[in-house]
Amino acid sequence: MSTTQKTAKTSGLKSDDLILITGAGGFIAGALARYFKDQGFSNIRAVDRKPLPEWYQIVPGVESICLDMSEQKNCEQVCEGAVEVYNLAADMGGMGFIERFRIQCLRSILVNTHLIEAAWRAGAQRYFFASSACAYNTELQKDPNCRALKETDAYPAMAERGYGWEKLMSEMFCQEYTAERGLKTGIARFHNVYGPFGTWDGGREKAPAAICRKVIEAKDTGKHEINIWGDGHQTRSFMYIDDCTKGVIDIFHSGILEPINLGSSELVTINQLVDIVEDIAGIRLERRYNLSAPKGVNGRNSDNTLIHKSLGWEPSIRLRDGMAKTLAWIEEQMLAGVPSK
Ligand code: NAD
Repeated sequence: MSTTQKTAKTSGLKSDDLILITGAGGFIAGALARYFKDQGFSNIRAVDRKPLPEWYQIVPGVESICLDMSEQKNCEQVCEGAVEVYNLAADMGGMGFIERFRIQCLRSILVNTHLIEAAWRAGAQRYFFASSACAYNTELQKDPNCRALKETDAYPAMAERGYGWEKLMSEMFCQEYTAERGLKTGIARFHNVYGPFGTWDGGREKAPAAICRKVIEAKDTGKHEINIWGDGHQTRSFMYIDDCTKGVIDIFHSGILEPINLGSSELVTINQLVDIVEDIAGIRLERRYNLSAPKGVNGRNSDNTLIHKSLGWEPSIRLRDGMAKTLAWIEEQMLAGVPSK
């Protein structure tokens, strides 16, 4: 694992080309907008259906617009003049959300369906879609020690109900726009992304943020217990946000047209993730396992053979270091009384 964060490759993209990023009031797209701005790109349009005060990041100098991307006319409006389009707008959350609100997750297909058509009609050069490891066949993820998922494991298909099927279908849309209409598309299958400026409370938060919040609450209240969903033996890998943004841009400008994994291959159990956060916070908690809570598949890891071979990409931030930054940020929010968005 390398220790330095290198700059992503944006070959072919001019600094004043219009870059459209949807879902930018959220976690990953907000970080992407900031990254492009920091790299000197001057023409960035960020869109989210959330009102602006609810965005995690409003990046100065980025045009920030509140619009619903499941509406065709809104997609047409924001795609005008766009050279690159990044679609990260989706109704999503941790297992508690995606197991409960399958229809809402499926309906994100409207976003990709209208946005890719609008991007193509507007003459955009490239279109990116944020897919997910939830697109993989769930039959291959029943054992906590199951092998890492490689790109071909999505088929034969048996994706996660609701959310995963939306991702798989939207991937298919992208691939057919490339095959039939020549629009260059990039598709990354994200495996659990975490870091500051993401959801940490309210029901949509994912395991890393939820664990940080629970550890901070335990410290603050002096009630030294933690409630863990499942038996704690489920395995996952977690990728820090900075590795994700760089990976997205590298994949997108590499010419890779097939879906590709973007995630860490540092597999941990949920219990180990709790150990890490407890260590950082300097506390030990009594663990209470909630076996009836949603917990998703038993095991999931990213096989990074393809991305490593094609791009030399590997995560640069160790889980412990990334979790320390995440914990610090969530603690800051909680102390300041800022609600999770
Ligand atoms: P997020 O919830 O923080 O951001 C998604 C944003 O999309 C939200 O701000 C939401 O308001 C917006 N949105 C939803 N529907 C919209 C619509 N119709 N019009 C406009 N905006 C809309 O989630 P995130 O973690 O930043 O995820 C970004 C993308 O990456 C999503 O497509 C998600 O499915 C995918 N992904 C994320 C992870 C992860 O671990 N965070 C893992 C796999 C895939």
